[in-house]
Amino acid sequence: MAVHYVSTRGAAPVLDFADVLLAGLARDGGLYVPDAWPTLAPGALARYATMPYAEIATEVMWPFVAGSIDEADFAAMVADAYATFDHPDVTPLRDLGGGLSLLELFHGPTLAFKDVALQLVGRLFDHELSRRGEKVTIVGATSGDTGSAAIEACRDRAAIEIFILHPHGRVSEVQRRQMTTVLSGNVHNLAVEGTFDDCQDLVKALFADEPFRDRVRLSAVNSINWARVMAQIVYYAVAAARLGAGAGTPVAFSVPTGNFGNVFAGYGAQRMGVPISQFVIGSNRNDILTRFLESGTMVQEGVEPTLSPSMDIQVSSNFERLLFELYGRDADRVSELMLAFRSDGVMSVDPEHLAVLHEQWAGARVDDEETVAIIKAFHRRAGVLLDPHSAVGVGAAERCRRDPSVPMVSLATAHPAKFPDAVEAATGIRPPLPARLADLLEREERYDVLPNSLDAVRNHIDGLLRP
Ligand SMILES: *Cc1c(COP(=O)(O)O)cnc(C)c1O
Repeated sequence: MAVHYVSTRGAAPVLDFADVLLAGLARDGGLYVPDAWPTLAPGALARYATMPYAEIATEVMWPFVAGSIDEADFAAMVADAYATFDHPDVTPLRDLGGGLSLLELFHGPTLAFKDVALQLVGRLFDHELSRRGEKVTIVGATSGDTGSAAIEACRDRAAIEIFILHPHGRVSEVQRRQMTTVLSGNVHNLAVEGTFDDCQDLVKALFADEPFRDRVRLSAVNSINWARVMAQIVYYAVAAARLGAGAGTPVAFSVPTGNFGNVFAGYGAQRMGVPISQFVIGSNRNDILTRFLESGTMVQEGVEPTLSPSMDIQVSSNFERLLFELYGRDADRVSELMLAFRSDGVMSVDPEHLAVLHEQWAGARVDDEETVAIIKAFHRRAGVLLDPHSAVGVGAAERCRRDPSVPMVSLATAHPAKFPDAVEAATGIRPPLPARLADLLEREERYDVLPNSLDAVRNHIDGLLRP
């Protein structure tokens, strides 16, 4: 029986996987979730203890895509996606002592956890578009970190053209080169003479321009896309299985959180039958979720820059999916709450529902000073170099861990070499780039510099797409 997808706001059409993949956001402004959570077969977790990652991934995700994609095609795309990772376990566990392990999600092409989802989603997009005989143009803005994962996911895919805007001269050389040294014909880097906010405003304006949007078939692969969440469910199952969940041993997870997509995937794994006893969310100074867990009220504030820039967010969009489950799938209630939040920047859940959340969810805020102290401490204690995002997760794990007899897995979302300045400041060691990127600073770059002007960017894209 195939999974179908419903919107958290209840007023968008029910879709199958392929349509949800291409749609992203639901038409009523909600997010798509499965109409029912499939469950793992009996004995599956015990088998996963030793199975290769890609085989587990195919099995775990199959119920979500069945009916939309041919089984052999799907298995081939999954195998291909995870062959781009340079560790045989894809997402290896590393023991930090004291029942704490690190789940390393950064062995993909761009050294950050977004590769786990995007390497598969790029392939799924291309496959479905090709089957339909369609093409899309993906346009996105990056402050340096997420653009490269999107570019690596879309490069050389016949059905996709991708344009990534970054603020000219305001991203680190490594971050820029991870994008601009991809010389594929369908990849276009635009360095905008402005800030990251300017880049985001330009992208929003392009999406708001209906004739343009239709003319170039504008699309996005952002973090609210269900397929990204789906791909992230897998490593929770893999990590738990490796730690003995097949024999019923529960596991706790700590997740450095921005948009809530990553940790919501953990919730999905739990609903599928993975015995997860606690979720800890770590935030930096931009702590909207931690404040919400304390008070039951979500209040939007301004964004402050931190050492962990990929978590510098104002709103955690994917939280809406958990809210939907918390309120027993009452889409009307979710719509009310989300509309209040949209208009006033404030939303509250009642004490009973907050108490339900507190049974399994905890959150901690880790500021920059503590982040540096954690990087330093774990280098000394365990000989590991943590990037600042991963350090926030570890700090939250230590602070919120409830049961020391339950293994705690903290998610490492970026390779330390991706944030070398912070790591060097904390430890005195500048982490080297892995072998696959060792010659990054010598590679040829290609990008166009454009003024901060909607006309300039639109004309540039139109010009490149016109045959
Ligand atoms: C995107 C990102 C995060 C936050 O992930 P969410 O799914 O938005 O919670 C954390 N760390 C790194 C390195 C990231 O790139």
